[in-house]
Amino acid sequence: MATRVIPVDPFDLVVFGGTGDLARRKILPALYRRFCAGQIPKEANIIGAARTDFDEAGYRAFVRDAITELVPAVLCAGDAIAAFCNRVHYIKLDAREDDGWETLAQIINPDRIRAFYFSVRPELFADLAERLYRHGMASGETRIVVEKPFGHDLASACELNATLAHHFDETQIYRIDHYLGKETVQNLMAIRFANMLFEPLWNSQYVDHIQITVAETVGIAGRAEYYDRAGAMRDMMQNHMMQLLCLIAMEPPAKFEPGAVRDEKLKVIRALDDVAPEDIVRGQYDASSDKLGYLDDVGNANSTTESFIALKTGISNWRWAGTPFYLRTGKRLKARTSEIAVVFKDAPHSIFGADAGRHANILTIVLQPNEGIELGVTIKEPGPGGMRLIDVPLDMSFAETLGPEAELVPDAYERLIMDVIRGNQTLFMRGDEVEAAWRWTDPIIAQWQEKGEKPLRYESGSPGPEDALGLMYRDGRHWREIRE
Ligand code: NAP
Repeated sequence: MATRVIPVDPFDLVVFGGTGDLARRKILPALYRRFCAGQIPKEANIIGAARTDFDEAGYRAFVRDAITELVPAVLCAGDAIAAFCNRVHYIKLDAREDDGWETLAQIINPDRIRAFYFSVRPELFADLAERLYRHGMASGETRIVVEKPFGHDLASACELNATLAHHFDETQIYRIDHYLGKETVQNLMAIRFANMLFEPLWNSQYVDHIQITVAETVGIAGRAEYYDRAGAMRDMMQNHMMQLLCLIAMEPPAKFEPGAVRDEKLKVIRALDDVAPEDIVRGQYDASSDKLGYLDDVGNANSTTESFIALKTGISNWRWAGTPFYLRTGKRLKARTSEIAVVFKDAPHSIFGADAGRHANILTIVLQPNEGIELGVTIKEPGPGGMRLIDVPLDMSFAETLGPEAELVPDAYERLIMDVIRGNQTLFMRGDEVEAAWRWTDPIIAQWQEKGEKPLRYESGSPGPEDALGLMYRDGRHWREIRE
């Protein structure tokens, strides 16, 4: 199954923080893959910008090493890397000083699409916006891509929105949440809005509950300082999980276009219920035989920051009133997996009698590691011996469906960066969405901060604190197993 590629117009893309971890691991490999796919025109320029003293050859070597390490070998054959590196340049500059900015302004083509990727720590976003404006690069076909975290709370998010709005129109601002670029997340919209099968059942009359899990096996090593200030609520729940919740719960937009989709997502966030203290479980991972625990990882024995959170909420609107949404995310858990499970209600009456047991259809959208969609259906267990029922999956794994081509399906960063160049904001968060998400998040955090509550301990490699299981047991439900 060959993927269709429509080349974009020539552009200049500046990656501020072009020497950093995100640029090396995600942005540069993503650009290279799109280059190999024939989507990036030969006249495009990719310009890394940071304080490190690279000359052009040095930066090209840095880019080449990143690609060789991170892109499948099949894409690195021949002179593809050299051709790509010819399009790569480097400017040494500091976001907080004026040197280098005039040079940047001179090499940027004013008649082209110009994208500026803010892949630096958030404290520098305002400096970058201000200097782009002062050096005449903010107008015309300019777009800025702003990485997470977008604010630390409602007040800081509003302040950042206001700062950016000072120099850029909302149509120029691309707040990136890479979860939205995942193939399965977009497929979620296709499944809901391109099939007649699911949408009539997509409401509290037929859906018992929805659970969203984003489980990681890694700890917070390398990001300790940031993470201990943020915690799972700010790092994952307020953005990635909230976005998944929006897509699963929103009303059908009239069109698949930025304004319509983002309006519907905003309505979901605004209809979210407050979360009661008894509906939240926070945890911190313990040391394991070969790894440090959370407190040692952050070097702060008194830290009350959570590396795990599970909570139950609801959406007060006609579609969802009465259907609980259970969300959990954490570090150092049993397996690395992200999935959304829509658990349908039991059939109203079993003609097979009590012995047949209880069976529910579950639609599972797996975001990682093996992107795909699975529908659990109940069938008769084959063979003689009466009418025994079993649940089996109707499975659509992308890796199996696409075969070797699965490796070539654009990843989230590829898709999102190309959307920036095309000027398509559908999969990016609007300013009011981000603010609404913080408006919901802030009081939840305030609850435990006021009480000085400590997170519960949990074993590394476990599904999280025991109490998180209780959150669902007490409602007569259970979490799906965390498994690869
Ligand atoms: P990083 O590895 O620390 O890189 C930071 C980059 O900023 C470096 O290129 C650094 O280069 C540059 N920089 C620092 N101070 C600067 C200044 N005053 N002027 C100009 N450039 C400066 O951080 P990162 O992990 O790449 O993260 C970048 C952003 O992406 C952050 O907002 C982060 O929250 C977000 N993010 C990262 C990831 C990830 O997986 N890494 C995931 C999601 C979001 P020099 O030292 O050469 O100046």
